[in-house]
Amino acid sequence: MGRVTVVGGGVVGLTTALRLAQAGHRVECLRDLPVERTVSALAGGLWFPYHVEPRERVVGWGLVALEQFTALATDRATGVLMRQGVLVERHGEDRWWTAGVPGWRGARAAEVPAGATGGVVVTLPVVTMPVFLPWLEGRCAAAGVQFQAGTVDDLADVEGDVVVVAAGLRSGALVGDAEPTASRGQVALLSNPGLTRWLVDDEHPDGLVYAVPHPEWVVCGGTDVLGSWDTEPDAAVHAAIVARVRETVPALAAAEVLGSRVGLRPVAPAVRLGKDEVGGRVVVTNYGHGGAGVTLSWGCAEEAVRLVGA
Ligand SMILES: Cc1cc2nc3c(=O)[nH]c(=O)nc-3n(C[C@H](O)[C@H](O)[C@H](O)COP(=O)(O)OP(=O)(O)OC[C@H]3O[C@@H](n4cnc5c(N)ncnc54)[C@H](O)[C@@H]3O)c2cc1C
Repeated sequence: MGRVTVVGGGVVGLTTALRLAQAGHRVECLRDLPVERTVSALAGGLWFPYHVEPRERVVGWGLVALEQFTALATDRATGVLMRQGVLVERHGEDRWWTAGVPGWRGARAAEVPAGATGGVVVTLPVVTMPVFLPWLEGRCAAAGVQFQAGTVDDLADVEGDVVVVAAGLRSGALVGDAEPTASRGQVALLSNPGLTRWLVDDEHPDGLVYAVPHPEWVVCGGTDVLGSWDTEPDAAVHAAIVARVRETVPALAAAEVLGSRVGLRPVAPAVRLGKDEVGGRVVVTNYGHGGAGVTLSWGCAEEAVRLVGA
């Protein structure tokens, strides 16, 4: 088994590093941000294939992660919970993402907001990222992954028999790809008054609405502004998100506002999961997961291991 260097230590890089180490490779993970400062750390953490392509591959990768997160939810230390919630439909049914997902059903009228044409009720993993990422890092270390802090400017400077580029939004710059493009996502964090059901209403006429309840807080969204690289929270956008969420999820009407965060989704026309030879060495790419890096993490990691080979 060869020496593999993974560039990137967000959810995609860490999951890939873990699976490579478990497959018997000597793995180094090189990253320039601590996990808590990655985009992955501020994700809502709901298993849901949002703003990602191509659908025909996304379904398979997602099912691998669904199964893995479902198993992890039996251990509280992972930060994974299984929670029932509703995906609101406002323009008829578009249920491609339910293929292979167990136990879903159509929503009853009382389960969706006014103006909805329907919805899907299903129990899915909710991953509390500030708990899960350190747990994942610990699993990597236990499996023998060596961590290095540092910025890569040129892949030629990276040691290893194989390099895996899993550097999120900044991956393109390392491999000469114009993608991914940033899609700005602003969220409001509200205290959790006891909410357990999640809600996603991504066809809401006033803009994206979602509420993902974690034990201590609820991640509420949101925005999805393709082409915006601005990472500063906007006060007016924040007020509008809070108002939309409180109207759609009345249980949050009096919840305390804890803060506002912005992250940039790494959006590409298709997830960049492939293999190339650069400078006589194999480079595997695993980036461009858009709004679904958590949702696809384990499935894409397993495919990356197959691409690295023996
Ligand atoms: C508001 C918001 C909500 C979201 N909610 C969800 C959700 O509910 N469910 C879901 O599945 N997805 C969600 N997403 C999407 C998800 O967060 C991303 O798809 C995912 O975090 C991408 O992970 P990543 O590991 O590729 O990148 P990142 O988390 O950005 O990590 C990139 C890593 O690469 C390293 N790196 C980059 N460039 C270099 C370099 N040149 N040298 C060294 N290191 C480098 C960084 O240090 C970092 O460790 C959400 C995104 C946003 C913005």
